[in-house]
Amino acid sequence: MKLVFATGNIGKLREASEILGEGFELVSLEQVGITEDIPETGKTLVANSLQKAMYLYDKLGSDCFADDTGLEVDALGGAPGVYTARYAGDDKDFNKNMDKVLHELEVLEGEAHMAADLGVKTKPVSRRARFKSVVTLIVNGEKKIFEGTLEGVIAREKSGNGGFGYDPIFIADEYPGLTLADITEEQKNDISHRGKALRAMAAWLKAQA
Ligand code: IMP
Repeated sequence: MKLVFATGNIGKLREASEILGEGFELVSLEQVGITEDIPETGKTLVANSLQKAMYLYDKLGSDCFADDTGLEVDALGGAPGVYTARYAGDDKDFNKNMDKVLHELEVLEGEAHMAADLGVKTKPVSRRARFKSVVTLIVNGEKKIFEGTLEGVIAREKSGNGGFGYDPIFIADEYPGLTLADITEEQKNDISHRGKALRAMAAWLKAQA
């Protein structure tokens, strides 16, 4: 089955092809001649994922899907959330984004220590976080939404060379002590938010066949 994937990121296209496996031919935005940035103005991952898939379907009329992913850090009140890609600015710089998250947690921890030193009872700052992916599929004009979550904690410093985005600072519960950038692509795909959402999509499509 041929599906247009609303991404210009070759790494993501390869990751999705590996997750979906045989039976799916993924086509990138570049291959269908879409070079402009697809609008993402929603306030939620679901809204953005729907917006991107509908933009593609309106333009091409072909079967397609789009994903939107966010990182939620408990101590930051769920931020960066829907602003994950642009947390430290519109240049979407992964290093600056990670530095901002690490810095904000350090500030909170520093404040908690200061309060504790003054005898104020404080709860330790939780580094618990999760990635959430929302995939919107449009087949024959019908929309379906699939979701996937990966639970973990934010590391104290960056580690690893693999993956992309916030991978060097995210430690999944399944691999304690290792960030997503330390483990292999296969290990990541097996547990990842996007892996779960895309496998749910593949299972649904196979059930329709
Ligand atoms: P998108 O909605 O898939 O474009 O993801 C938004 C942002 O989330 C990206 O720019 C990355 O910074 C981050 N992100 C998405 N997926 C991952 C992942 O698997 N690992 C680390 N960061 C990710």
